[in-house]
Amino acid sequence: MKKISIVVPCYNEEKALVFFYEETEKAISQMQDCAFEYVFVDDGSKDKTLKVLKEFAEKDEKVRYLSFSRNFGKESAIYAGLKNATGDFVVLMDADLQDPPALLPELYQAVKDGEYDCAALRRVTRKGEPPIRSFFARRFYKLMNKISDVELVDGARDYRMMSRRFVSAVLSLGEKNRFSKGIFGWVGFKTKWFEYENVERVAGETKWSFFKLFKYSLQGIVAFSSALLQIATVFGLLLCGLSFFGLIALTVLHFALSAMPVWSFLLCAIVMGVGICIFFTGVLGLYVDKIHTETRNRPIYIEQDGNITK
Ligand code: UDP
Ligand code: MG
Repeated sequence: MKKISIVVPCYNEEKALVFFYEETEKAISQMQDCAFEYVFVDDGSKDKTLKVLKEFAEKDEKVRYLSFSRNFGKESAIYAGLKNATGDFVVLMDADLQDPPALLPELYQAVKDGEYDCAALRRVTRKGEPPIRSFFARRFYKLMNKISDVELVDGARDYRMMSRRFVSAVLSLGEKNRFSKGIFGWVGFKTKWFEYENVERVAGETKWSFFKLFKYSLQGIVAFSSALLQIATVFGLLLCGLSFFGLIALTVLHFALSAMPVWSFLLCAIVMGVGICIFFTGVLGLYVDKIHTETRNRPIYIEQDGNITK
């Protein structure tokens, strides 16, 4: 019998958890051919989340939980959950029922035979979300897909069921500044996408302020793209080129027509100096990027299949 671990990051979810547990129990009662465990991660909640989890654990031995000493953020909670999950399959779910448990059987169908290593959800609508947030989210995905080396699926939620080897691959990326949406794409393997309409949270409120999301997206860009560093190199070169042609043009005009004012030469020289500085800052950035890559220590490759035994 295969075991499925349900990993749930919770931050101030005392109101939502009861609904979540009820709904999920209903969904998994239809999956008689599997064993289950819950791995709740209390991300330093300030409300009674931990108490609720303890109550769950008392009456249900499937429930395992761990509690952080303070709020470390959802990424840390996801990592802790995946690390402590023992199932053959692991599914990641929010505590607010925005990830409908009723879809669990469908997700399991996709991964159980090993055809896919991951089954994930993407929202086709962002109904119920503030329009400004949707707007910036869309722009972010467009930008990321242009400048980064992984593909990010617009509207993809963290709700996904993964095989054991997919989870191991995700955990093998030991970087501290984690951006899971990127990591899931980075590790590869075949993912089956399901589409669904956005559901609003059942109780409580969103933990993501606009500023928190902005910081999070910057983290994503820095973790999966070096475009920001390369911009400096290109911009510096551009300034150098411009001022170089400016100087030549000024010199020609100076001798062919009439005397050019000294400040125009000076201006070009200053722009060139600035350009050179920016260019070498960019070059420095390229080396910093190399160091960044080395210190993150991501695996060089991830194996999917083969007949080589060590
Ligand atoms: N969460 C967390 N730590 C945080 C913020 C959020 O563990 O610092 C959890 C939260 O309890 C929920 C999930 O991450 O289970 C998604 O959070 P939320 O519903 O607030 O995000 P949204 O759905 O609005 O994007
Ligand atoms: Mg939510």
